[in-house]
Amino acid sequence: MTLAQRIRRFAPVVITADITHLSAPDRETLRHLIRAARRIDGLFLEQVWAGNTALLLDLAGDRTAAGQEELRYFLMNKGPWSRLDDQDVFVRATFGVPAKPRQANFYPANASREDVERWLATLSPDDAAVATGFFSVIRRGDDGGLRAVPYRVAHHDALTAIANDLRAAANATTEASLRRFLDKRADAMLSDDYYASDLAWMQLDASIEPTIGPYETYEDEWFGYKAAFEAFIAVRDDAETARLATFGRHLQDIESALPIDPRYRNPALGALAPIRVVNLILAAGDGNRGVQTAAFNLPNDERIIREQGAKRVMLKNVQDAKFEHVLLPIARLALAPADLARVSFDAFFAHILLHELMHGLGPHQVHETGQAVRLALKDTYAAVEEAKADISGLWALQFLADRGLIPAAIATSMYRTFLAGTFRTLRFGINEAHGRGMAIQLNSLLDAGAVIARADGTFGIDDGRMREAIAHLTSRIMTIQAHGDYDAAATMIELATIRPEVQRLLDRLGDIPVDIAPDFQTAREIEGRLGGG
Ligand code: ZN
Repeated sequence: MTLAQRIRRFAPVVITADITHLSAPDRETLRHLIRAARRIDGLFLEQVWAGNTALLLDLAGDRTAAGQEELRYFLMNKGPWSRLDDQDVFVRATFGVPAKPRQANFYPANASREDVERWLATLSPDDAAVATGFFSVIRRGDDGGLRAVPYRVAHHDALTAIANDLRAAANATTEASLRRFLDKRADAMLSDDYYASDLAWMQLDASIEPTIGPYETYEDEWFGYKAAFEAFIAVRDDAETARLATFGRHLQDIESALPIDPRYRNPALGALAPIRVVNLILAAGDGNRGVQTAAFNLPNDERIIREQGAKRVMLKNVQDAKFEHVLLPIARLALAPADLARVSFDAFFAHILLHELMHGLGPHQVHETGQAVRLALKDTYAAVEEAKADISGLWALQFLADRGLIPAAIATSMYRTFLAGTFRTLRFGINEAHGRGMAIQLNSLLDAGAVIARADGTFGIDDGRMREAIAHLTSRIMTIQAHGDYDAAATMIELATIRPEVQRLLDRLGDIPVDIAPDFQTAREIEGRLGGG
């Protein structure tokens, strides 16, 4: 594949968010947050590879077509390795770029994984906790020995600048919970103690929803210890937040009507983990490389997860862009014209919300023993649980539609939209839980005659059978969960295959973009209009 073809897999998309409702002080807050996020980009480049900044400057100075193309793809991948292609080097050989270091820049380039392991084994428990913690890098001292250097020291200048931006943002805003989070997060950048600011982030209730800091550990491919910096600067979507609240008010009704033995229903649902729907203004660092994040669960600090759960943040305008540029093109090939007319973003997004909410409903403990369903179903759990959230989410949408609690336009488009979405998920394969769970659903709907594979290669829906098939599969999965029936779950997983008629369609999807390449227009406007300083 040429570099141009690799780039074309990402559809260029302008990402905007409505900020007209924000007060002047809050726009000023946004401007400081965008500046902080831009710095996160540079910080993350340093974390990925010590050579990244120098290479970026070389590419930026190269005005040839090849240089500009390499620069574009470098910025999309945050480095010279193609993340969709097993980290293949894509810049010209003259740059002498090595294979992607699996230790990133978290550990010394001249140390092996075994060196680090041997050294960790010599440390006291306290020192080992710092050395294996999220917020330190490992470096060689003057004596050649290894030592842990906290982020606040290793990235002193960048973190000081970011902390100053966050304080300026805090001073500008009129919203108390936002000011509290930003002040505490500025402190954390300089102390490497993120606990108090993670708590403040959980309690954030403001028109601006920033997520900024060191979070995920995927970039540390040696040990998964070290957190990479990322930022998502976003504004709350008030309409969807109101819709979520509506759904939330009916969750107990949904639980009490689940198509399972009434003994398995939960008569008193507890408090749900918070969900926020936002529109993204700028993603940076680890939050903007390769395939774009459309939703995330944070923080990763186990103390907070134990105490409060994690907060789920859904990036609505990013979901919308993926719908427009990936899902709709798939639907044009997968569905007949009359069905295509009944595919809508509102139904797509409502189902995503219900999917998240339904993870919290249905049996979580084995009825007889009280054992966690997750433990009882072992390796089958993830795929079965994802299938449950999807299919029961569809069941719940129908439940709400029957009571006039969702717009009719969603009710008439939800089945076709779901069907087109199944092919988008299956395109990524059935090796992970979401794909496997989707294959179970599609095949079971095909077997029930609710989804129809037509001779012309398109797929359709038998509305009469769909409703019953959805209730039936919801019932089957939740009953397996209530019984903690591992054997039944394993049998169900055997249904997770790609059938020939589905494979023929997937083969035709080749040229449709895999994902999007965002151009953050609102962020650029805020930076430009309000100037520097
Ligand atoms: Zn899920």
